[in-house]
Amino acid sequence: MGRRRRRTIKILKKTLPKVYACPRCGLISIRVFFKENNLAKIVCGNCNLKYDYATETKKHPIDVYNEFVDKFMSGQVVLNDGKG
Ligand SMILES: [Zn+2]
Repeated sequence: MGRRRRRTIKILKKTLPKVYACPRCGLISIRVFFKENNLAKIVCGNCNLKYDYATETKKHPIDVYNEFVDKFMSGQVVLNDGKG
């Protein structure tokens, strides 16, 4: 006889940055942030890799990440984190 209450499930839509695999330490701890219009920041939460990446147009984080990995693998990325 009693009415059943419907459970409302709230879906939290947080714009958390997705994490990607770090080309240096290998962990899934790379985050891509966008600062100003065309400036992205790539940060690894594990090995403290940091890289500022200026793009010509606004890009998706995954595109920025892919280009960063390409550069990293081909030795074009100079990381200034006090090592060496
Ligand atoms: Zn790392």
